[in-house]
Amino acid sequence: MATPILNIGLDDIRANWRALAAMSDGETGAVVKADAYGLGAGKVARALAREGARKFFVAIAEEGAALRQELGPGPAIHVFSGHMPGDADMIRDTELVPMINSIDQLIRHVEALPGAPFGIQLDTGMNRLGMEPAEWGAVAEVALEQRPVLVMSHLACADEPDHPMNAKQLRAFREMTDGLGIPRSLANTGGVLLGADYHFEVSRPGIGLYGGLPFVDARPVVSLDLPVIQCRTLAPSETVGYGCDFAAVRETRIATVAAGYADGILRAMGPKTRLYADDLACPIAGRISMDLICVDITGLDDDPTSLELLGRHQSVDTLADNAGTIGYEILTSLGSRYRRRYRGQ
Ligand SMILES: *Cc1c(COP(=O)(O)O)cnc(C)c1O
Repeated sequence: MATPILNIGLDDIRANWRALAAMSDGETGAVVKADAYGLGAGKVARALAREGARKFFVAIAEEGAALRQELGPGPAIHVFSGHMPGDADMIRDTELVPMINSIDQLIRHVEALPGAPFGIQLDTGMNRLGMEPAEWGAVAEVALEQRPVLVMSHLACADEPDHPMNAKQLRAFREMTDGLGIPRSLANTGGVLLGADYHFEVSRPGIGLYGGLPFVDARPVVSLDLPVIQCRTLAPSETVGYGCDFAAVRETRIATVAAGYADGILRAMGPKTRLYADDLACPIAGRISMDLICVDITGLDDDPTSLELLGRHQSVDTLADNAGTIGYEILTSLGSRYRRRYRGQ
């Protein structure tokens, strides 16, 4: 079979959640949007629920509805996009908690589903989602009468501890929420690492659960082995792949593996990325194709049956650096394209 297998450690995700939870006094939720960053929202959320997570966060109501099927009744599922037109039935039937982003959303929610739970999302400077201070000032009294269950905002620069934006947003959040008596949430993974001032009653880590930066002490969660389809020997001056970018300077052994940029292995990572045969690093030869990658395995004694792209030697963040992007993009690009094999539960 030529379908690569993405190995996902549910035990590692649980350990990362535990480690992040141990850093704060408040409750630790889990962000499982985009199919849990590509790793499978159902499996991941069920594993985290077993570990004790009781609050989950998704981007849109459809994700929340699907997650409810997996989790069953009980855990809270919060929706960052709030209450969009057409969401009411789904919100009611699957008991979602929309994080209301505007006066329009608030009206829509209380008119369609009076008494149904909701939260409030405030903008403290990121200018992406949530009510701004003036809007919140105008609507707070009415909104509070409806008893929101959570009030949150999101940090723009939490992965840069020294960035002045962090303190600025913290100050704005406090000004907008001090004394309300409602549970508050500000911290993503980076926010948890910023320290107790940022924790409030609920934190919302995502990437750290999945082994990514800025949680440097995270346990790695994923590994990926790519099956070798064919091996061949090149004479000096023969070339490999599109554009003839790689030319053999000596007799060279090339392995062709079954994955490419259509499988989320971004072309840009090619020049700096190695595939591993046990501990031996094998450089990519030439350009990454749509479904195939050629690898220089001259250093190996025997032809491998597979080569490791992600694992002990090369993390999601290494690949991200190689491609000039972030671990989040690597995970969400890779995640859904492979057969997934889960370790733990
Ligand atoms: C994605 C997201 C998170 C999780 O962020 P990480 O950096 O992955 O921990 C938290 N809150 C909001 C609003 C988000 O969009």
